[in-house]
Amino acid sequence: MTTTVSGTHTAGRREQILRAAVQQGLLEPGTALLAGFVDLDGVEATVTSLHRAFPASLRTLHAFAAKANCLVPVLAELRRLGMGCEVASAGELDQALEAGFAPEQIVFDSPAKTRAELTRALSLGVAVNADSFQELARLDAILAAGPSASRLGVRVNPQVGAGSIGAMSTATATSKFGVPLEDEGNRQRLLEAYRERPWLTWVHTHVGSQGCPLDLIARGVAKAVEFAEEVNAHVGRRQVTGIDIGGGLPVNFDSDETTPGFDTYVAHLREHAPALFSGAYEIVTEFGRSVLAKNGFMAAYVEYTKTVGGRPIAITHAGAQVATRTVFAPDAWPLRIEAHDHLGRAKQGRPVPQDIAGPCCFAGDLLARERALPLLDVGDLVVVPDTGAYYFSTPFHYNSLPEPAVHGARVAADGSVTFEPLRPARSAHPAPVLAGGL
Ligand SMILES: *Cc1c(COP(=O)(O)O)cnc(C)c1O
Repeated sequence: MTTTVSGTHTAGRREQILRAAVQQGLLEPGTALLAGFVDLDGVEATVTSLHRAFPASLRTLHAFAAKANCLVPVLAELRRLGMGCEVASAGELDQALEAGFAPEQIVFDSPAKTRAELTRALSLGVAVNADSFQELARLDAILAAGPSASRLGVRVNPQVGAGSIGAMSTATATSKFGVPLEDEGNRQRLLEAYRERPWLTWVHTHVGSQGCPLDLIARGVAKAVEFAEEVNAHVGRRQVTGIDIGGGLPVNFDSDETTPGFDTYVAHLREHAPALFSGAYEIVTEFGRSVLAKNGFMAAYVEYTKTVGGRPIAITHAGAQVATRTVFAPDAWPLRIEAHDHLGRAKQGRPVPQDIAGPCCFAGDLLARERALPLLDVGDLVVVPDTGAYYFSTPFHYNSLPEPAVHGARVAADGSVTFEPLRPARSAHPAPVLAGGL
């Protein structure tokens, strides 16, 4: 078994894309100060590795978690590569539909679905995982008014515990997500809920995101599979026909190695939840970060440099607006930084500890502290790898900073790089929408 899949997306490839971006005017001092890049060849290779990791004999839908990178052209590319889409809000549902996903390829999870959102999802035929008994009662009311083609399930919280980042752990004893399986009386109440609702044919769980060890995730999935078997035994027939195992495969932010791979995760699932592979269940997965993070990077110009208290600081155009988690929780979300010159060439030179700051007006707006890098100068570019998911795709509007342009890149066999627009740069202060149009 391999434990490591070497990424197609490496430092050399980032440099190639960056140099082409500078040459083609996608980065310009004074105007295009910051941009995000998605390596579309890398995305294709990752999706291929995901499809290969699960046995071809099982009916599996890999639904990309839209929140990880919700840009419509990115979602459309993932659809072309054979993925489905998991959405967690009405906005993400609109993006998935705009990207061309058929309703049956979409899964709607959210702990706060409104009646109107549920009604729309059920009329479209989008799969829904109910997050609570109260939500099940809303589904009852909607279904009383007419049938739906939607696959319907319940999100269970297997309460297997937290990973290393509390805010990313959804299977703790007191998580806000799903129906807690081990709370007094809940299992019996859930079994009755399935018995009373023959249309409840799926079980869903999502143990957590970054920071959850594979064994923890696999144990959570195993509890969901055991619960599905329990439902079927309780009702005396195979009512539950599908298991949605969520996402959460962690990403290695330390190096260009893509580890763990999807194959390693599947090996853990086989060990903990063999019944998942029995052929009795359809499978849905909801990976987000592991599909996109390592296939994206951002690049920003250094606007100024200074030395403060003896420490060099580079003031760049990438800060909290595009690296929110890293800036506010630096220990949980460390990112690598690479130093490049104004042409995009990797800088050589003795590494010097320096702070890499962003443009926002608060002191904590730092991408990295005391990071040893060749000394940055005005006009250099900093590259921030592994930011294809949850970074530049969902910017924070602090200081009314604009949303940076995002470019998709493909590298031909001859080394030439072709870009396609994934999002134009957008002002945080758009012209007002005129009521009634012009
Ligand atoms: C966030 C989320 C995911 C995706 O998590 P990743 O860590 O990006 O794989 C999948 N399912 C649900 C329900 C989520 O909330």
